[in-house]
Amino acid sequence: MSMNIAIDGPAGAGKSTIAKRLAKQLGFIYIDTGAMYRAMGYYFAVKKGIDINSEAEVAAACPEVEVTIAYENGEQQVYVNGENLSGVIRTEQAGTMASTVSVYPVVRAKLVESQHKLAENADVIMDGRDIGTVVLPNAQVKIYLTASSATRAKRRYDELKAKGVECSIEEIEKDIIERDYRDMNRETSPLKQAEDAVLVDTSDLDIDEVVEVIFKIYESKKGK
Ligand code: C5P
Repeated sequence: MSMNIAIDGPAGAGKSTIAKRLAKQLGFIYIDTGAMYRAMGYYFAVKKGIDINSEAEVAAACPEVEVTIAYENGEQQVYVNGENLSGVIRTEQAGTMASTVSVYPVVRAKLVESQHKLAENADVIMDGRDIGTVVLPNAQVKIYLTASSATRAKRRYDELKAKGVECSIEEIEKDIIERDYRDMNRETSPLKQAEDAVLVDTSDLDIDEVVEVIFKIYESKKGK
């Protein structure tokens, strides 16, 4: 039987950094589901010029969209209708586009189905907002990763700064809080901690410490 690890939590809690590290350590495939929502939002808003605030417009365009992932040099790449959008989806704006379209059940149904298939026959670590609750309810290990909004904003700010992007930490924190609110209060699959998930607060932990904590949880659940 394949082993599935689900990591959920709000924006900037460190999910992807931690999941990537653990995947490497355990030899698992890492699946970043946020990238799939980002690619879909970006495709509709920028490539198609659709008003993504209109559920009807998004729903009408949905059947023609195919989101797939592939791995190049160990890095996940996300394709929409054959075009690699990985290079343009990491901005805060793309995060907001993702959060806007991710509210719609038609979008979620489509992506959840492919995420489900990806995890069927493989050992995976998948991160997102609804992995432990909806996508992989039978995952053997479920983690809810969080940190204060100030900590999360500071991490995003440092990341963007290091890339030479001019930004304001107040703006980032405001965006994060708005995005969390939308993700936690939407009707379909809102972000919440699964009943059987372990809460890990990363506010006062560095990456190595978080990896260690989750590795220990994995070891304790493995083979049960
Ligand atoms: O994790 P990331 O910041 O890339 O996610 C972008 C947005 O995609 C989230 O704010 C959320 O609205 C949406 N998302 C989701 N379900 C997932 C992963 C991401 O709704 N499983």
